[in-house]
Amino acid sequence: MNLRTRLDSTRAPLSWDVIVVGGGPCGAAAAWSLAGRGWRVGLVDRQAFPREKVCGDALLPDALHALRRLALADEVFKAGHRVSSLSIVTPGGRELRVPGEFLTLRREVLDAILHRGAVRAGAEAIQAEAVAVFETGRRVRVEFRSLPPIEARTCILATGAETRLVQAFEGVAPVPPTAIASRRYIRSGHSLDRLMVTYDRGLGPAYAWIFPLGGGWFNVGVGSLWGARLARDHPALFDRFTALCPEARAVMAAGEASGPLRSAPLRCGLDERVLRPGRLCLAAGELAASTFPFTGEGIGKALETGLLAAEAVGGFLSGDERGLEAYGPAVRQLEPKYRAYHAAHRLLNHPRLMELAAWRLNRSPWLAARLAAVLREEEDPRALFSVSGLLTSFFR
Ligand SMILES: Cc1cc2nc3c(=O)[nH]c(=O)nc-3n(C[C@H](O)[C@H](O)[C@H](O)COP(=O)(O)OP(=O)(O)OC[C@H]3O[C@@H](n4cnc5c(N)ncnc54)[C@H](O)[C@@H]3O)c2cc1C
Repeated sequence: MNLRTRLDSTRAPLSWDVIVVGGGPCGAAAAWSLAGRGWRVGLVDRQAFPREKVCGDALLPDALHALRRLALADEVFKAGHRVSSLSIVTPGGRELRVPGEFLTLRREVLDAILHRGAVRAGAEAIQAEAVAVFETGRRVRVEFRSLPPIEARTCILATGAETRLVQAFEGVAPVPPTAIASRRYIRSGHSLDRLMVTYDRGLGPAYAWIFPLGGGWFNVGVGSLWGARLARDHPALFDRFTALCPEARAVMAAGEASGPLRSAPLRCGLDERVLRPGRLCLAAGELAASTFPFTGEGIGKALETGLLAAEAVGGFLSGDERGLEAYGPAVRQLEPKYRAYHAAHRLLNHPRLMELAAWRLNRSPWLAARLAAVLREEEDPRALFSVSGLLTSFFR
């Protein structure tokens, strides 16, 4: 019997141990973890998978690390395109190359692999738009636009930059999106051996990227701070980028765009106020602003916070009444990992310091190795992004 028939034929709402709302990387990781431990998990998304998600499609080392924990790295590596360095172009046009393990894969494919992984582990996929979540005594009730309500013992909200469901909880006021970014797919004969992110001052208060996807495809995009003038005119910003940056010009000259420039908001920098919107509900992923500032990279921390939420929910479902309380402190432990990105973001306001840091990084193998280790999250970013870190590098 399919879900709709089951819902229509029962007078009381169907009940799960946990309902995960949002089937992106965060929700899929949480559902995979809980279903794998034998809990009854409903994984809700308003869209059917595979579905498109506006993104740069780049997986940085923290995302690859999380995928290995999910035992899905092999499948993702097989589908993706490996890249072994990342270039960061400073506002003054200096290019820094950071070696590392990177992968690109269209989100349509990545998210379908993750969603399928969760279903394979035992989660039940429910395609419906959740319109309200509220707690009734010891249960959570989720209401939908097109299905009868369902109930669960607990709930993980993982709706990305969409904050409507948590806003309805009393006293929860999530910060609005912090940035907006847009991407376009280009098929081109040009070849590029690295991921490129640029903060060239010619773009204004904005950044842009070119990520090779393999097979002659590129993800080319621009991002700007929420509320900045440029956020309203991304097509013009995109044109400026592809005229200004030699690599982007070369990609465009040898290629053609497939589909329109598409935009989406980002929530960056961790928003602790939404982690626990209710007694029985947790919020994770981009909804909790888990995306990194400066680069807008968020898949890795969406996966990681999803797994942390699952850990706390697992404890609660096993009988630990205070299990959900472990989630906030666990997420706060990630905070140092955001410091490098906050520091780099702040450097953008000090262009001379940024040029000095970039100049130094290009000359110091010690500093370049530290930066690669920070990206792999093997080193505390304070060793690098501090005045003392920079000074130390002059003696190495
Ligand atoms: C243009 C752009 C470029 C980016 N580039 C990169 C990049 O290269 N690398 C990187 O790591 N990160 C990148 N990011 C950030 C990355 O996309 C996010 O951090 C990541 O998708 C967050 O995952 P998530 O699972 O928390 O949310 P999402 O991936 O947004 O998933 C949320 C899911 O919830 C569903 N949903 C929402 N509301 C409801 C509802 N009411 N009912 C049911 N379902 C609902 C949605 O359909 C969606 O499937 C980029 C973002 C943008 C906008």
